[in-house]
Amino acid sequence: MFIKETHTIHLHQRESKLGKVHNFKRRRSAYHFRCDACNKEFVRDKSKVTPARASNSVHHVCSSCDPKKFAQKIGVKMRKVWQMDASSTEVKL
Ligand SMILES: [Zn+2]
Repeated sequence: MFIKETHTIHLHQRESKLGKVHNFKRRRSAYHFRCDACNKEFVRDKSKVTPARASNSVHHVCSSCDPKKFAQKIGVKMRKVWQMDASSTEVKL
């Protein structure tokens, strides 16, 4: 289950040739999911998640659970959805 998207701001400092310190910010986005197999909340870096998967139309399984076992548990119908999802991302790339 998709819960929310969060942003964390990282501050960096870089010293210029003249010895002046420049501050700059980097914003990182992360997606929070709840595992549909064990109900544990987990975080994935936004860059590692296909935007289409950040919704509740697909299930999410955390790294400590086996997504294949989970797919078998919820049945063939959902596996078909997952395959569709995978092929649609292939087209985008
Ligand atoms: Zn899990």
